[in-house]
Amino acid sequence: VLSSFEAAQPLPAAFQQLGSTTQAARRLFEIVDARSEVEDPKEATPLPQRYDIGFRNLTFRYMQEQPPVLRDLSFHVPENSCVAIVGASGAGKSTIARLLLRFWEHRQGQILLGGQELQGYRQEDIHRLMSVVAQDTHLFNTSIYENLRIANHDAKREIIITAAKQAQIHDFIESLPQGYDTQVGEQGLFLSGGERQRIAIARALLKDAPILILDEPTANLDSLTEREVLRTLRTLIQGRTTILITHRLVDLDMANEILVLRDGEIAERGSERQLMQNEGLYWQMWNLQHKVLV
Ligand code: ADP
Ligand code: MG
Repeated sequence: VLSSFEAAQPLPAAFQQLGSTTQAARRLFEIVDARSEVEDPKEATPLPQRYDIGFRNLTFRYMQEQPPVLRDLSFHVPENSCVAIVGASGAGKSTIARLLLRFWEHRQGQILLGGQELQGYRQEDIHRLMSVVAQDTHLFNTSIYENLRIANHDAKREIIITAAKQAQIHDFIESLPQGYDTQVGEQGLFLSGGERQRIAIARALLKDAPILILDEPTANLDSLTEREVLRTLRTLIQGRTTILITHRLVDLDMANEILVLRDGEIAERGSERQLMQNEGLYWQMWNLQHKVLV
């Protein structure tokens, strides 16, 4: 597994613009709003031997005086399986992703990675193991090519182009006058949300990390592109431990378990098939969405 944050090799140009690796990590992980209060342990747990994720009776609040955003959450994502988390906006879905990335410290309950408490690991090690595709993707002030290569410094040009093709962004890049050399970021060409999202998917392909965190990975895509990107995601999740956060109830047969989150609690859980048979909350949400779409 190759890390984007190996400090031993010379920093690429895009990294030199940044103050610190932690800052780079935060931007690469697209958690723009996170204010991390988290510190690494003095004696860190070595990297895990397996990549399952567990939440045990986790209750979390952003501020002490406020009610919890997540309540008594328990679930397990076995290695190489996919758990989907669905629920209305504000239900607490992205908070789960932020906690996994250790941008916030939890005080009640446990989060386990490879059977060990998440707090025991160095944040950098955690990030090395995870690829994130979120709603908003940060682009560095450099070329599109470097923005992809940042996920894996060692990737050869063909590999980068293959990843861009699989992420359905290659044709778009080629259509630009300067192709892969086009400057993007704050000082360059503006890319739409959907284009940036596909850059993030290409980065995840290049990074090749064993754990995937997908937070509304198709949120900004039109339905045709969404379909294509979902096909890539299906391939991407093979052989990885995946948390798929989504409000779009399509293609969820790829999840081994679906958790329906309501006000920070698991209101319903099961496979897509079970949840449709239950005719409960998931089924209601499904009907509402598919009616709106017709
Ligand atoms: P979802 O991803 O399901 O839409 P979030 O996990 O982003 O929901 O947010 C869950 C709740 O936590 C919301 O009520 C939101 O307002 C609150 N919240 C999110 N981020 C913060 C923060 N940094 N500080 C305080 N409250 C927050
Ligand atoms: Mg969210």
